[in-house]
Amino acid sequence: MSLKARKVAIIGTGLVGSSTAFSLITQGVCEEILMIDLNKEKALGEVMDLNHCIEYLNRNTKVRVGSYEECEDVDIVVITAGAPPKPGQTRLDTLDLSVKIAESIVNPIMNSGFKGHFIIISNPVDIIAYHVYKISGLPKNNIIGTGTSVDSARLKNFIGELLNVDPRSVQAYSMGEHGDSQMVPWSHVYVGGKPFYKVIEDNKDRVGDVNLDKLVLDTAKAGWEVYNRKGTTYYAIATSTVAIIKAILNDENKIIPVSTLLDGEYGEKNVFSGVPAVLNATGVKEVVEIDMNEEELTKFKASNKIIREYINRVGK
Ligand code: NAD
Repeated sequence: MSLKARKVAIIGTGLVGSSTAFSLITQGVCEEILMIDLNKEKALGEVMDLNHCIEYLNRNTKVRVGSYEECEDVDIVVITAGAPPKPGQTRLDTLDLSVKIAESIVNPIMNSGFKGHFIIISNPVDIIAYHVYKISGLPKNNIIGTGTSVDSARLKNFIGELLNVDPRSVQAYSMGEHGDSQMVPWSHVYVGGKPFYKVIEDNKDRVGDVNLDKLVLDTAKAGWEVYNRKGTTYYAIATSTVAIIKAILNDENKIIPVSTLLDGEYGEKNVFSGVPAVLNATGVKEVVEIDMNEEELTKFKASNKIIREYINRVGK
């Protein structure tokens, strides 16, 4: 009998990559993890530390240093290697260098015969995901940017705090760019099945006048609020990424907002943007097209315009 081990390769074993590996092993998501980094000693250090966890976990995940040549039978490659923005830089400022890094990773992985899924975390994530799609030649459903998955988690946190409910009882998406221009289709935000607009209208004595624009801004800036205090962010993005990995490896058909190629959905083409999508073993099975009102659609399209401009700016 032979059982196929589920394999995940993590490229870039810095804070985001190693937190993703840690989250994978603590949740027992796969059987094998390959850790790959330009800095081989760093990768080895992380592998050693992660292997020292196994005794006290309920599953023995094999973690080892890997290479691009070994990626042929890997199910999912997670790209975290990038150029994290320096103080004062936006995610978009790191664009050209991050695309070059992505190329140096994707080309050898494709040469290995890899046919699995790429999950892109490296910023600016929507643009890097688009270029990985172009460089790899893989079908669009195989390329997933973490996009607004983490922003949506932050948004739900803010709404949960405002109303004193568990964020998991909130249904809400942040959409568009994983960056300043992201937007929230408020007409599709629900709390326990009740429209958010109605919840705040019925609870004015408790919540006062809710400033929706500020909530969107706080969501978009939440990563920076973390960054300003601890210099970087990693737990939330690692956890969002593992949710995406589980949806693929367990064929869950789970809906998560991710960055994916829009190919006519929302009247958009040729852009990677954060939208709710059904994720299963095929990757992005389909994009969920929510019925936005005119104002929401205008904001969503404005965000896509910004992503598209940066996509076209690479290498120029
Ligand atoms: P880090 O500096 O801690 O780690 C980056 C690692 O990548 C380093 O170990 C480095 O040696 C390695 N690396 C660099 N170039 C490489 C290459 N060509 N090949 C292989 N490895 C290479 O950075 P981090 O905090 O882990 O962040 C990594 C990326 O994730 C950044 O682009 C950051 O902006 C992004 N990020 C994205 C989100 C999101 O929501 N999408 C959230 C947090 C961070």
